[in-house]
Amino acid sequence: MSNGRYSAKSQKQAARQVKRFLNKLPPKQRKIVTLIGAVVLVAFAVWYYWPEIKMMLTPDIPPAAETVQVADGEAEVYFFDVGQGDSIFIRVDDYTMLIDASVREAGDTIVQNLDALGVTELDAVIATHPHADHIGGMTQIIETYPIGTFYMPVLPDKDTPTTRTYENMLDALSEQAVRVEQISAATMISPPEGAMFTVYSPYIGDEWDETNDYSVVLRFSYGDVSFMLTGDAEAPVEERILETGWDASADILKCGHHGSSSSTTEAFLWAVDPEVAIISCAEVNDYGHPHRETMAALSEQGCEIYQTWRDGTVCVVTDGESYSVGTWSVGAGLRPVA
Ligand SMILES: [Zn+2]
Repeated sequence: MSNGRYSAKSQKQAARQVKRFLNKLPPKQRKIVTLIGAVVLVAFAVWYYWPEIKMMLTPDIPPAAETVQVADGEAEVYFFDVGQGDSIFIRVDDYTMLIDASVREAGDTIVQNLDALGVTELDAVIATHPHADHIGGMTQIIETYPIGTFYMPVLPDKDTPTTRTYENMLDALSEQAVRVEQISAATMISPPEGAMFTVYSPYIGDEWDETNDYSVVLRFSYGDVSFMLTGDAEAPVEERILETGWDASADILKCGHHGSSSSTTEAFLWAVDPEVAIISCAEVNDYGHPHRETMAALSEQGCEIYQTWRDGTVCVVTDGESYSVGTWSVGAGLRPVA
C-alpha cells in the first residue's frame, strides 16, 4: 500500500464527507461554511507558498552598490560639488587639508560635507587665489574650524583685491588669530606620512595680467599616486611650469579654471598625462564651462572625465599604489563609480 494511493483515497473520502455534511445544512448556513472554508484554504495556500509569492511580487532591482570603506593608511581626495567654484578636501589618516571654499552660498554645503566626514579641525587651508568662486565660503570655514596654517598667495599691490569677500576673509583670519603664511613655489608644506606636497606656482615677485595666474598650483602625491591641482591657473602659468622642467606628471588632474579653454593646454596636458581629469563647475554658468575644446583635448588624451555638476562630489581613494574613483554624498557615503 503506497502512501500516494492511501492519500488519494482518504482525500476522496474526506471530500465526500464534507459534501455530505454540507448537504445536510440549510442553504444559508451551507453558503457561510463554504465561504469560510474557501477563505481558510486560500489563507493556508498563501501562507504555504509565501516565499514564492514574495519573490513574484518583488521587482527585480539589482542590489545597491556597497559603500566604500576607507582603510587606515589610505588617502582620500574629495572634489566637492559646490556649484560654479572649487573646493577640494584631502585627508590622510588624521591629517586634513582644504583647498578653496567655492562661492559664499556653498559655505553651508562645505561645512555639512566636512561635518559628515567627521572633520573637526583643518591642519592646512589653501586659498588658491582671491576670487569669489574660491574664497567665497572661506569666512565661514575660518569661523567654523580651528585651522593649523592658512596659506594664500600674496599678490602685488596693483592686483590685491579690494572686494568685500576678500576683506571679510582677512578679518575672519585675524579675529580667529589663524596663522597665515604666504604660499609660493618656495613653500614647504609639511605632509603627513607617505605624502608629499609640492608647490609649482606662483613665484614670489610674479606679475601676471590675470588674477587667475596667481593661483596656487599644487602637486599632491601619496606613494606612487599623484594629483595635479591647478586652481584657476591658465596657459602662461602652465607654460612656465613646463619650462622649470619639474615633473608635472600626475594620475589625476583637476583641470584649471573650471575646464576653460584658457587652461589645460595641449603641451601641459601631454606633460601631466593624467588618467583621470576632474572639472569643477556648475551645470549652468555664465562662462560656458567646461569649454568644448578642453573636453575634446581630454578625450583625445584618453582621460576618464568627471564633472562635479554631473557626477556630484568625486572622491579618489588611494593606498599609494593604486587608486579608485567614487562619488560621495552626505546621505549615500562613498560609492564606487559603476
Ligand atoms: Zn574659479
